[in-house]
Amino acid sequence: MSRTLDPEFRRALTARIRYYNEMGIYDFYRRPLSVRGGEIAAAIAVDDAPIAGSTTQSESRPVAIPGDENIFDLIALKPEQRVSDPAQALKIIREDLGDCTRCVLHKQGRKQIVFGVGNAKADLMFVGEGPGADEDAQGEPFVGRAGQLLNNMIKAMGITREQVYIANIVKCRPPGNRTPEREECATCSPFLMRQIAVVKPKVIVALGAVAAKTLLAMNASMAQLRGRFYDFRPAGVRSSDLNWDGCKLAVTYHPAFLLRDPRQKGEAWKDLQMVMGELGLKAPTKSSD
Ligand code: SF4
Repeated sequence: MSRTLDPEFRRALTARIRYYNEMGIYDFYRRPLSVRGGEIAAAIAVDDAPIAGSTTQSESRPVAIPGDENIFDLIALKPEQRVSDPAQALKIIREDLGDCTRCVLHKQGRKQIVFGVGNAKADLMFVGEGPGADEDAQGEPFVGRAGQLLNNMIKAMGITREQVYIANIVKCRPPGNRTPEREECATCSPFLMRQIAVVKPKVIVALGAVAAKTLLAMNASMAQLRGRFYDFRPAGVRSSDLNWDGCKLAVTYHPAFLLRDPRQKGEAWKDLQMVMGELGLKAPTKSSD
């Protein structure tokens, strides 16, 4: 049962969370504190920082709040969640990423960060592994030969590249096009999660095993991963749209793999047809090509 916080307590808690936000801290956690009268209370961990505007130094202590009070949903927002325009929100995430040096890929020959491209309100999002040489040179994902094939795959679905959003798990080119290390994926992917939470697609297509395993946080073969939908919510971030409760995720082969083994194109087409069914898309007829 939802309960309203005492206004004074709420004001103090709001001021405390804004204080953390101004320091660049947006992630909070709650832990069960006790069960009272059949209700589970929760706690947040707070440190010794004073509440903004208060003159007294608070003690380190848990703050009890009703378990289903979603004050954090309302207050502890990422910077991009404070704007309503998704294109603007994506710009804010890009600015937050800055000239990123968070993982070793920043010093392994990247020319530029490849953030993502496309419709900020797309129903369909493609997520690949990482930029290659062409992408690194142009600053846009999927612009080389694999990108051409992806464009053809998108066209075969009856839509255009401009209608979808395209990004990668890592935003800097791994040297020699090697597979990104797990740590690099883990360091970079929170920014992708924020992009997903802004775009709020209906369906994500993970292109290849690295994208699938990172997004789904599971280790399985492509044969095991393909052929079904997963319920997906971006890890560690909420959308500012409380009506968006995640999306479907499908897995298919990376276009670069399909270039190496064109016999698998039929299998990839089956995956895309499953996605088309979910989105109500129809393949263009010959005459409309
Ligand atoms: S791959 Fe991602 S985390 Fe690593 S340096 Fe590039 S932008 Fe930063």
